[in-house]
Amino acid sequence: MSEKKFYITTTLPYVNAKAHMGHAMEFVRADIIARFKEWLGYSVFFNTGTDEHGLKIYRKALEQGKDPQQYVDEVSKLFKDLTQKLGMKSDLNFVRTTDEKHMRAAQEFWRRCEKNGDIYKKNYKILYCVGCELEKTHSDLVEGRCPEHFDRELEEIEEENYFFRFSKYTQNLLEIYKKNPNFVRPDFRLKEISSFVERELEDFSISRLREKQPWGIPVPGDEDHTMYVWFDALVNYVSVIGWPENMDVFDNWWPVTQYAGKDNLRQQSAMWQAMLLSAGLSPSRQIIINGFVISDGQKMSKSIGNVIDPLVLIEEYGLDALRYYIAREIHPFEDSDMTEDKFKNCYNANLANSLGNTLSRVIKMYSSYEVESRDFPSLQEIQKDREVEENFISALNEFNIQKATDYIWKRIANMERFIQDQQPFKTIKTSPAKAKEDVAYLMQELWVVSQLLQPIMPNSAILIEKALRTGLLDSPLFLRK
Ligand SMILES: [Zn+2]
Repeated sequence: MSEKKFYITTTLPYVNAKAHMGHAMEFVRADIIARFKEWLGYSVFFNTGTDEHGLKIYRKALEQGKDPQQYVDEVSKLFKDLTQKLGMKSDLNFVRTTDEKHMRAAQEFWRRCEKNGDIYKKNYKILYCVGCELEKTHSDLVEGRCPEHFDRELEEIEEENYFFRFSKYTQNLLEIYKKNPNFVRPDFRLKEISSFVERELEDFSISRLREKQPWGIPVPGDEDHTMYVWFDALVNYVSVIGWPENMDVFDNWWPVTQYAGKDNLRQQSAMWQAMLLSAGLSPSRQIIINGFVISDGQKMSKSIGNVIDPLVLIEEYGLDALRYYIAREIHPFEDSDMTEDKFKNCYNANLANSLGNTLSRVIKMYSSYEVESRDFPSLQEIQKDREVEENFISALNEFNIQKATDYIWKRIANMERFIQDQQPFKTIKTSPAKAKEDVAYLMQELWVVSQLLQPIMPNSAILIEKALRTGLLDSPLFLRK
């Protein structure tokens, strides 16, 4: 079978909080790449979902007086609704880590690692802050104390947990990174993870006592323990494509391309890769690491009052305005600052004015000058164009969505300049044949724009296509705000 295949997933959001701009960003980016691959003729399996076990979720449910299952059902539904509101592909797979099938796969994954000698039990000392009611790691502490409860001594609790033999995989991981310099994107994240792995890996704990963390998948063969949430959730990347029950389907799609936030670098590009090796599976294809979206130079937070809600933006400006902003105005790999003012300015300048206005003008000239229509170039012809290849296709192949979107707007800017220089709205009186020729050219250019917009702003692409085919535009594509 020579069919081109592509499997892409986001990180599953943890359902202890509402969806925020960071989730919307990662969802839309993965959707753009999934659509782009389909645009190129690939078959695509696209996955997201919700990560639903663990102590934080258990506590959150109790806090709200809810049964944990009821709580996760409610929050998971909000995320599922978000995928629809963001216009993600309708055949998107949405997994929940509380699904029976996933839980069975996570247990089987554990058994395989155990069989391979990579899971062992040991005494584990933890530092516990009664104020937070949370376990603290050394990196959480300031001068050996909880920064939120500086006046209290931390309690030291000793418990027996299962550990994963991470340290055994140091060399294998370094080999993966060396063999495939694109394994983690961008480059500086690959360097970061390589030097983390080089510094000597420590085995990590992968279980909790059931009495402390009842909301989790039982450890196979030991009812007193539940699986730590990481070990459980990561397995979704293989369970959703049939592992271990349906290996034909699995082999058809594996390996995966994973989108993740920079706070997930270690889990996805080191811990998960070692787990895969331990279970006898091959590594992921690629891991793409996002930066954070901040606002006015600070982390978005309720107390600062700088939280931007993606759903509010969709309500006010429309879905494709948000998709545009994520594609072009947020840096593909670094942290990006975002404010509502900036959003509005970008919307007016680049959507209402440049794209929207150009479309209105061209369609108006086309319909009033009786321009003879030409055949539009096919998608295959557009994809073969060298400039499109170099600036659009290669950028998206490198997950540089911003660069690809910039290219579309460069073409729009060229059209604006062309209209200004050639002035077909004037020459229609003096040399009508030339004016008509110019408008026909602009129609073709807009057609190319609509084809390039398909993965990024699918709804707008359809509307532009329709306007070009019919020569009619009922209302402006984007209203000025
Ligand atoms: Zn504390």
